[in-house]
Amino acid sequence: MNIHEFQAKMLFSQYGIPVPQGKAVYSADEAEQCAKEIKADIVVVKAQIHAGGRGKAGGVKLARNKKDVAGIAKGLLGKTLVTHQTGPEGRCVRKLLIEEGVDIGKELYLSLLVDRTYSRPVFITSLEGGMEIEEVAARTPEKVIKEYIDPSAGYQQFNGRNMAFRLGLEPDIIKQFVSMAGRLYKLFVEKGASLIEINPLVITKDNRLIALDAKVSFDDNSLFKNEDVKAFRDLDEEEELEIEASKHGLNYVKLNGDIGCMVNGAGLAMATMDVIKLAGSEPANFLDVGGGASKETVKHAFQILLADKNVKGVFVNIFGGIVRCERIAGGIIDAAKEVEITVPLVIRLEGTNAKEGLEMLKGSGMNLEVASDIWEGAQKIVKLVSRR
Ligand code: GDP
Ligand code: MN
Repeated sequence: MNIHEFQAKMLFSQYGIPVPQGKAVYSADEAEQCAKEIKADIVVVKAQIHAGGRGKAGGVKLARNKKDVAGIAKGLLGKTLVTHQTGPEGRCVRKLLIEEGVDIGKELYLSLLVDRTYSRPVFITSLEGGMEIEEVAARTPEKVIKEYIDPSAGYQQFNGRNMAFRLGLEPDIIKQFVSMAGRLYKLFVEKGASLIEINPLVITKDNRLIALDAKVSFDDNSLFKNEDVKAFRDLDEEEELEIEASKHGLNYVKLNGDIGCMVNGAGLAMATMDVIKLAGSEPANFLDVGGGASKETVKHAFQILLADKNVKGVFVNIFGGIVRCERIAGGIIDAAKEVEITVPLVIRLEGTNAKEGLEMLKGSGMNLEVASDIWEGAQKIVKLVSRR
């Protein structure tokens, strides 16, 4: 789960990590009021969306005169912001962060994430902050510094000093950096984060180290541990169908193609998407109904697939292991009673009770085609869709 910058900064504050003074607002009036309360001369207005690259896209504006804040806020609220991370459809700006402007001396980069290859948390830091770190890493990898943390020992001060020395920071800043990294590590572990990224981390002209931007992502499987983090979820930032799917415990990700896929198991789902591509089309989604799918779950899954206007055909590809094929068949038949299926449907059932499942489907009077393996199924659905 992702959260907004202003929420990430609330967490930072809780952990004693310095951030600019600021507040989230929802209207131009509120923005104006908030600007008056800010002590600094310069006020920064920042669009709050779950995507970075806002600066370059006009989503971060500096007001040298507080009188300008209301106008800037009006211009941003309700606007669709397109950044290199939002995709071409962009994201609607519904909230703003109004912040004190900071006098930037130097922009650094600092992040903390789990390195899956080494099975341990790693800090990544660089003097080349502010711009796209991916580019720095690609062109000048020697400018990117990594510090691995032994998870059994946790963060140690020497970890922070290692990074600070390699960055060549001044003694006064080293102290602040070592403390900040420790606090970030504590937040990371206690709140179940999967990524913390500060870009830029700034050294101000008066030598303070401040997180000017903040991005935090969480492992969904850790959310049960922290109600406060869970409460940060913003449904405005999520796909409607994905929200609906998560209510029913389905693993659903909307994609841009036209073949809806209903599959059990993430591996089979990936394989199915690959094979659809190989057959010459594009999947409209990733959908794993899971190992223990009930008839009810399958019904919801099928309805979610059909609710996507891009779906021109559906391919059901089930390998019945724990989940029995007749349950899948029952769910599809139930779904068909409630929503009209106007697109072609190809079904491949294999494994536990596949025969019973297929017989139920054939006996239901539904308009569908059966495939005996994944490749045949993918070719059939792609052909049926292209004919329409
Ligand atoms: P992003 O583009 O979505 O990553 O948004 P950021 O929060 O990183 O802001 C983009 C850029 O705006 C930063 O790299 C800074 O250069 C600039 N910026 C943000 N806040 C301030 C501020 O308080 N003072 C100054 N001078 N620049 C700022
Ligand atoms: Mn940034």
